[in-house]
Amino acid sequence: MRKRVYVVYTGGTIGMIKGASGYAPSPGYLAARMAMMPELKDPMLPEYTINEYEPLLDSANMSPADWFKIANDIAAHYDEYDGFVVIHGTDTMAYTASALPFMLKPLSKPVIITGSQIPLCEVRNDAHENLITAMLIASQYPIPEVCLLFGGKLLRGCRSVKESATSFEAFSSPNFPVLGNVGIDININWRSVRSSKGDTQNLKVRELSELRVGVCRLYPGISSEFIENVLRPPLRGLVLEAYGVGNGPVRNKAFLDVLRKANERGVVMVNCTQCFRGGVDLTGYETGSALADVGVISGMDMTVEAALTKLFYLFSCGLTSEEIKKWTQINLRGELTPFSEHHSQEQKRDSFLN
Ligand code: ASP
Repeated sequence: MRKRVYVVYTGGTIGMIKGASGYAPSPGYLAARMAMMPELKDPMLPEYTINEYEPLLDSANMSPADWFKIANDIAAHYDEYDGFVVIHGTDTMAYTASALPFMLKPLSKPVIITGSQIPLCEVRNDAHENLITAMLIASQYPIPEVCLLFGGKLLRGCRSVKESATSFEAFSSPNFPVLGNVGIDININWRSVRSSKGDTQNLKVRELSELRVGVCRLYPGISSEFIENVLRPPLRGLVLEAYGVGNGPVRNKAFLDVLRKANERGVVMVNCTQCFRGGVDLTGYETGSALADVGVISGMDMTVEAALTKLFYLFSCGLTSEEIKKWTQINLRGELTPFSEHHSQEQKRDSFLN
């Protein structure tokens, strides 16, 4: 029997056509093109239902309300299909891929997010390959995770980042092995795939309703007034993109004071590195430990996308600031590497646990 896949079509370049002011989504176009593809009639590939959203969005226009719509759509069709493909623009794909794992639990079927850099309407494109491979993986590979499939790489969604604005290999997961490589063969790295523990029915959706969380990147010259404005109420959480292993301008006492006061008000500040690869260790330098002393916590090796959506999630669960600080540093969906797995940081683990 052919497998069945539910396709959520949210928009993105993949189904756009060129108009007077550039590429824009075109209702009905992608579904019509897919209906004409002989590959999608092959018994290897699944039967599918496509739900085209209205309006189709350039993903730069997406918000957490759109993630909630996608999550609910998947949950509403969960029992009838073997897997799910989410067709999405690339610009905020890594954010959606980071948010959905927190919103959908317990996941026991593949949710594969894909899109393309060049639309299907162009003669030379990456849309065809990404689409067919996503359909194949969603139907034939029982990976119980939200994944991002792009340019021949299958990535854990909450580890993914968009790394290139122009390359066909636009995404990577710098702090986690790829879940699969697509070449002549599709090779899944099963050792890195999470197992679906326990309840495989009853998929539940958590809305990300508490959005008073932001992101701020440190830069030489950042003033205490600037960070004070960022941290003003009603903000409840902040991802602080710091330097290197989590360092900041701590000789600026007014700057540190602003952070201390925010911490005392219950604002949760999570330190993520600006570096493309690697994580945070606030014990490494004075410039990091001084941040820890005023209440900033380590985001370890989470991407900014994962840290942000995790804070949305934890605040939406109604936890206290102290509980959120604790859970931020615990691996919930494969979004961070627990310290015990950081072999190179093994000695530093003790100071973390004390
Ligand atoms: N702006 C487009 C989007 O994110 C880019 C793309 O899909 O590649 O929807």
